[in-house]
Amino acid sequence: MLKLKFLGRGSGLNPKEGNTSAYFEYKNNLFIFDCGGDVAGKLIQKGLLENKDRITVFITHVHDDHAGSLSTLIYYCKYILHKRPIIVCPCPSGLGEILKLEGVQPEDYERITFRMAFNKRFKDLFIRLLVADVVHGNMSAYSYAIEFLDGYYIYYSGDTDSTMHFLLSDLINNVKPDHVLLYHEACMYECPVHTSICRLYGLVPERYRSSTYIMHIDSIFDEEYAKSLGFNVVQVEKEE
Ligand SMILES: [Zn+2]
Ligand SMILES: [Zn+2]
Repeated sequence: MLKLKFLGRGSGLNPKEGNTSAYFEYKNNLFIFDCGGDVAGKLIQKGLLENKDRITVFITHVHDDHAGSLSTLIYYCKYILHKRPIIVCPCPSGLGEILKLEGVQPEDYERITFRMAFNKRFKDLFIRLLVADVVHGNMSAYSYAIEFLDGYYIYYSGDTDSTMHFLLSDLINNVKPDHVLLYHEACMYECPVHTSICRLYGLVPERYRSSTYIMHIDSIFDEEYAKSLGFNVVQVEKEE
């Protein structure tokens, strides 16, 4: 099963751990989940953007720690690689407006706003993309899941509170634990815009906990406590 590799695993206010962002490479395509302020630099320095057929970024929402360096990534693709990256974000207008203010033209990237369009574009690689609206304060925010051709799934929550987890429950009800990897944000204590580890414990049945990797951790996050509950915690790729 394809696992995500993480460039950072911190919350927006925990710079020591870097902005939470993950990627996977698949048949010479690069897929990236979120592109916060410090992410484009890491992708460039690691050489991950080079020699790829397609570069695709899934944006969960436009907080700086999730989309802050997207314009840099698009500029790098345009001026250095002479490529148009694909940006997946259902958010009706916000992202395009922000990019425009940063000088990025709509023709510099390909925007996919509907999962059907994504499914058509990537039918050679995946069975389907699933997208769910989630609650994250006053932001338009989305969780994503990808079903691979071999029947395995990857789920990426983005930032969300604990009130709408339809996609997560859908996967838990329909996909076996050894066929899915759940990447979910969690904070230590109750918070109106994020999911506390106690809530996540209630949402994820025991048999799915070892398939669940916690990300977007704050500075007081207790990794050992999360592990004692049966969860995994994402680890960031070591620098070579
Ligand atoms: Zn965040
Ligand atoms: Zn956020």
